[in-house]
Amino acid sequence: MADNLDIINCPACHNAMTKVHFPDLGINIDVCTEGCGGIYFDNRELEKFDEAQEDITPILKSIKDKKFEEVDTSEPRMCPVCGTKMVRHYNDIRKEVMIDECYNCGGVFLDNRELFKIREAFKKVEKEGSQEAVDEFNKMLVATFKVPESGVIDFIKKFPKSSTMQLFEALCTNMYKNM
Ligand SMILES: [Zn+2]
Ligand SMILES: [Zn+2]
Repeated sequence: MADNLDIINCPACHNAMTKVHFPDLGINIDVCTEGCGGIYFDNRELEKFDEAQEDITPILKSIKDKKFEEVDTSEPRMCPVCGTKMVRHYNDIRKEVMIDECYNCGGVFLDNRELFKIREAFKKVEKEGSQEAVDEFNKMLVATFKVPESGVIDFIKKFPKSSTMQLFEALCTNMYKNM
């Protein structure tokens, strides 16, 4: 759906939302700067801001030094763009952040600070995900080459950088053999 340029009212506190422009992305995000601090994203816009390295400076500027009113998060919300009742559900498998989503137009509403929680959760998943990969790789080394667990680092160091691919190939061949 195209970026919506009309002023919309916040689905949580009903104040008029402020357009926050991202010139590089060519999109506007609606932020409830005068009410509850909630943020409304048109269809697929949230994915441009949910990863910790993605720039949200214009959003931070728009809410800087503002005091936001509390809202009742149990109240059903209506999509401010198409009027459909929004569905409240968890944003990710960790069940840390609840978001309101419009299944008609794809809009998403986040309450005050929820965007930061989503970005934090993303950082955690990334970190733990890469640690998991390292653990898995180490396990494969131990199993394939009978390297003692304490000696994995020394074992890898013995390989010249150019043969890292060979090491991977050897590991993969062994993995497929055992499948
Ligand atoms: Zn609001
Ligand atoms: Zn909608």
